[in-house]
Amino acid sequence: MTHVAYREDSASFELDVDYVVVGSGAGGATAAVTLARAGMNVAVVEAGPWRDPDDYPSSTYGAMRDLFDSWGALITRGRAMWPVAQGRVVGGSTVINSAIRVRTPEDIFDMWQRDFGVGGPEMSRELDRIQTEIEGELHAAVVPEVARGNSNKLAMLGAERVGYDSHFMTRYIHDCVGSGQCLQGCKAKRKQSTNVNYIPEVMTRGGTIVSCAPVETIAFEGKKAIGVRGRFEHPQSHKKGSRFFVRAKKGVIVAASATHSPALLLRSGVRTPAVGKFFRAHPGTGLFGVFNEFVDQNIGATQGWASTAYRVEPGIKLETLAIPPELIASRIAGAGSVLMERLQQMRHLAMWVVAVRAETTGTVTNGWTNKPVVHYELNRADMERLRAGLVLVAKTHFAAGAREIITGIHGFPFSIRPDEVNLLENAPLDPRRYVALLSHLFGGAVMGKDPRISVCDDRGRVYEHENLFIADASALPSTLGVNPQHTIMALARYFAERMV
Ligand SMILES: Cc1cc2nc3c(=O)[nH]c(=O)nc-3n(C[C@H](O)[C@H](O)[C@H](O)COP(=O)(O)OP(=O)(O)OC[C@H]3O[C@@H](n4cnc5c(N)ncnc54)[C@H](O)[C@@H]3O)c2cc1C
Ligand code: SF4
Repeated sequence: MTHVAYREDSASFELDVDYVVVGSGAGGATAAVTLARAGMNVAVVEAGPWRDPDDYPSSTYGAMRDLFDSWGALITRGRAMWPVAQGRVVGGSTVINSAIRVRTPEDIFDMWQRDFGVGGPEMSRELDRIQTEIEGELHAAVVPEVARGNSNKLAMLGAERVGYDSHFMTRYIHDCVGSGQCLQGCKAKRKQSTNVNYIPEVMTRGGTIVSCAPVETIAFEGKKAIGVRGRFEHPQSHKKGSRFFVRAKKGVIVAASATHSPALLLRSGVRTPAVGKFFRAHPGTGLFGVFNEFVDQNIGATQGWASTAYRVEPGIKLETLAIPPELIASRIAGAGSVLMERLQQMRHLAMWVVAVRAETTGTVTNGWTNKPVVHYELNRADMERLRAGLVLVAKTHFAAGAREIITGIHGFPFSIRPDEVNLLENAPLDPRRYVALLSHLFGGAVMGKDPRISVCDDRGRVYEHENLFIADASALPSTLGVNPQHTIMALARYFAERMV
């Protein structure tokens, strides 16, 4: 079992393998374990540090410091500056996500085939097989009764009363105890993030994990990728350490996320026209329902309930989301004694959110100090989807018995009552008024048949280059309208199987 962490020797750290994978999140870890099972010598090079679940922080502050990329400070450039949340730790965003597992909807493969010349029945069949495998490996299970918590149960009741389909979620969990800590990492070791399964398996199969190792560039001989270079970075002080060079005989697999992968390709000199283009997302925002009863949203699965009833029209997904108390405080307007008074309702609050299947596309460029720069501004049609979703969330809250809703919309009443939902129907369409977040990211190095508008083909091979592959969210040519991890993992395995 080899794990190489931060080093500051004067000599450069060097390693020779068959395949090097950049990034250890959903895509990278799945590609790496698939290659390792096929007998390949694999190295996974990860910018963030290794953290054992016992070492996860409990607070949001600690999670931002130890687990999130750039302290969660990567923001969209556009009229609204919305955070783009991602992990930077061995396990990537799977360490900080809610482990929700949703199969790729069948219509996606038809759409990919129609619009991008990839996908179709063969990919659909193969991803179906792979998703079944992954479900077994990562213990996909419906949130158990003991972990449902009041917020998720109330949402189910509200949806039933409004009259649309919804469900308790299926997640990659092993006996979730409902500690509501998914976003800070699962200290209870129930969540199946890739640092507790695929990455250790890569190591037991002879692979190497190189952590605290942000890749600066991909090395090429002509158009052939031959490895990756960078410099170790201390996880706390961010001090630069030794240089490293991991040489790969058979392939370099880029799986650094929808923001970092295009930025890495750009700074490595990959100049196919679509690099950094067609970045997409499911921006999300939520409303607090205020109930007379105790909700205690932090007791129960962080996200345990969802509805995909409106995935196609108007293009939204509804979910519960338990956020830690300090984030609740930051989402409630006011200061001083006013804020303190409002926070006394904390135990009565339920946060339910809408994620928009947005048609907006943005771009990713490589910025200062190798940080990605995301240009993304939701268009009017998507803002209308977001508003329609909030109206539905509000109706669900009221149907479940909420006495009022805290809106969190700038320049809008602090709270509204059941007879005031019509106000929300006319809420502003200016994205700057909303506190939203991008956590489901897609594109930037998209797969497609036409190299003028795509970066890789339907095997993840980067056009105009040899031995260079994409295996993460950046390859997805569209949004999905559902949580993306299962699709990203399955596509990464599909590509890796074809490499060997
Ligand atoms: C808070 C949150 C909750 C979410 N909840 C869910 C959910 O419940 N279900 C779901 O399906 N999806 C969820 N998602 C989305 C899901 O986690 C991501 O879609 C998925 O993890 C993306 O996979 P990826 O491989 O593209 O990138 P990531 O999983 O983000 O992994 C990328 C890795 O690459 C590393 N990296 C970046 N740059 C470099 C570099 N230069 N050198 C070396 N390494 C680098 C990063 O540190 C990171 O570890 C959530 C996301 C967030 C942020
Ligand atoms: S709710 Fe708690 S126990 Fe369940 S997966 Fe999340 S962090 Fe782990």
